[in-house]
Amino acid sequence: MKYTVDERGYYGEFGGAFIPEMMVPNIEELRDNYLKILGDPEFRAEYTSLLKDYVGRPSPLYFAKRLSEFHGTRIYLKREDLNHTGAHKINNTVGQILIARRLGKTRIIAETGAGQHGVATATVCALMGLQCVVYMGKLDVERQEPNVLRMKMLGAEVIPVLSGNMTLKDATNEAIRDWISNPVDTHYIIGSVVGPHPYPDLVTRLQAVISEEMQWQLQQQTGNSDPDCIIACVGGGSNAAGAFYHYLDREKVRLIAVEASGKGIDSGESAATMVLGRPGIIHGSRTMLMQDEDGQIQEPYSVSAGLDYPGIGPMHSFLHKTHRATFEHATDDEALEAAFRLTRLEGIVPALESAHALAVLKKIRFDKTEVVVVNLSGRGDKDMVAYMKYMSDHQLL
Ligand SMILES: *Cc1c(COP(=O)(O)O)cnc(C)c1O
Repeated sequence: MKYTVDERGYYGEFGGAFIPEMMVPNIEELRDNYLKILGDPEFRAEYTSLLKDYVGRPSPLYFAKRLSEFHGTRIYLKREDLNHTGAHKINNTVGQILIARRLGKTRIIAETGAGQHGVATATVCALMGLQCVVYMGKLDVERQEPNVLRMKMLGAEVIPVLSGNMTLKDATNEAIRDWISNPVDTHYIIGSVVGPHPYPDLVTRLQAVISEEMQWQLQQQTGNSDPDCIIACVGGGSNAAGAFYHYLDREKVRLIAVEASGKGIDSGESAATMVLGRPGIIHGSRTMLMQDEDGQIQEPYSVSAGLDYPGIGPMHSFLHKTHRATFEHATDDEALEAAFRLTRLEGIVPALESAHALAVLKKIRFDKTEVVVVNLSGRGDKDMVAYMKYMSDHQLL
């Protein structure tokens, strides 16, 4: 079975490019050039050098001894939390800004929900001296003030979006509208493995550095480049796609993706797309989607702002359908508990998103000798308000 994208931009029945006529030139330009640029030795040299000296790669693969003892298996953490700006998102933005420059673009736009992708985009725009415009729902602008300030300090213009629910989905629509109006000088940096072809494949290839490193790091530390299992959280699915990529064809390696079930699958406040969704079209791609009977997109919820997307990348829909990956979910409370466990056992404060991946360690029985890699997608500084609330609720303060 081939799990990567086909020539038409599909993963089985998922993917494609369902876009308005006006957007076709932008998408065609990117589609016709991205593989050439990614394969160009000069691009590779520049990308690799920036990943090393600017982002701080390779990110360590850390054997978590006390966490392993707690769960009765061998747990390794892929430390994407140690990257510059604190998450995996910078792997993608560094790559895309280099592509934008090669396409002669001088202006960058992006959408952001919690502000993490906005910050990663504003960062590389400052690095390259390119103009940066970030669309962000007005509600998110109010909820995520520290990231808004960071983007402004980096020189980005943050435009609050007033349409719809004033959150991520609406910010994405506005960014698409901007791109259609500015097709010549502007590149749109999408923040996850979503959107029309070629974005899901492009972002997957840029995040694939995660599993590329994992292979030799595991070989060095365990004597085998294959783990038994890889666990990653999924919002749109970019950190999971990167952590899975080089293992997709190694069917013995179990791939586990973890969605956010918020206050519970049946609570009406959740973001577990694979359980609650059915195929539909969102942001130019056919994929699993949370929608009502009329096809209206349902508002997702999770305590973690990076996971509350109503869709999911088309490759993940295909991995789900073919059973190549198992989709699990964790609630707000399970993730919070897992975040505190990691902090107290290993001295690492994870992002709330990553804590969803950690939460699954308690739900699945692993053998003592099994090697389990958890992709620690980001660090938890941005989540201190939620963690403080948990501490006061549980008399930990
Ligand atoms: C944005 C974010 C995610 C979710 O995005 P994916 O594309 O699913 O990886 C997960 N973890 C962190 C730390 C994030 O910032």
